[in-house]
Amino acid sequence: MLAGKVALVTGASRGIGKEIALTLAANGATVIVNYNGSKERADEVVKEIEAAGGTAEAIQCNVADFQASEEMVKNVLATYKKVDILVNNAGITRDGLLMRMSEEDYDAVLNTNLKGTFNMIRHLSRSFLKQRSGKIINLSSVSGVMGNAGQANYSASKAGVIGLTKSVARELASRGICVNAIAPGFIDTEMTQAMPEEAQNGLKQMIPLGRMGEAAEVAKLVLFLAGNDSNYITGQVISIDGGMTM
Ligand code: NAP
Repeated sequence: MLAGKVALVTGASRGIGKEIALTLAANGATVIVNYNGSKERADEVVKEIEAAGGTAEAIQCNVADFQASEEMVKNVLATYKKVDILVNNAGITRDGLLMRMSEEDYDAVLNTNLKGTFNMIRHLSRSFLKQRSGKIINLSSVSGVMGNAGQANYSASKAGVIGLTKSVARELASRGICVNAIAPGFIDTEMTQAMPEEAQNGLKQMIPLGRMGEAAEVAKLVLFLAGNDSNYITGQVISIDGGMTM
């Protein structure tokens, strides 16, 4: 399905990003496994892809850093000549009630989740425009759609991702480039496992399908948006949340 395509997945050392990297590679794409701090885990993802007969490379880069992300894009383009699929998945949480939220926690979350997404799109946009094709898939969240107490910073960043997605989709549509956002609900990863049990149970009760989602389920949606079957879909926010936001 994606043979000959090059995909760059940010934050692919674990969780949803890892499953996206494995899924795109299993469908024929060459995958750049970006990570920030977890080198060993990113190397493991590459090994897993290679063991299954795929092609991948791990590249360290803090996507929140404008210059560093430009450098990563330059290196990737020098080696692979193109990027067909960009998945902006890298994300962090620094939860806390607004009254106690520090400036540092606000900035850190906005810088990684929103500015990091901007940085990657900005640096790859020239190459996407030149090749007149491309798929950009940004990870938003139900928190960005509905808001969530204790996540003012995270919700703001994920709502920002939606605005960014729609604006960029409009700018790039005339060149055949599709830009969409995914809004997952409560997915079983280290990010959600870090939440207090009480908060986890409260969230589960809000899910009509009665269970958490799996990273592999999100990865299948990314696969659809990365392939040609979704060529007429752009500027959309697609929820995958067990019915939380219906
Ligand atoms: P996770 O398990 O905490 O993994 C986060 C990934 O992002 C890691 O690979 C991490 O790499 C990477 N990362 C963090 N900061 C980075 C940076 N500055 N530069 C590059 N990579 C960075 O998170 P997840 O649950 O898989 O979430 C993935 C995405 O889905 C996030 O954008 C998240 O907001 C979104 N999402 C998740 C859920 C959920 O329920 N889990 C729901 C809605 C949306 P290192 O370890 O190397 O730092």
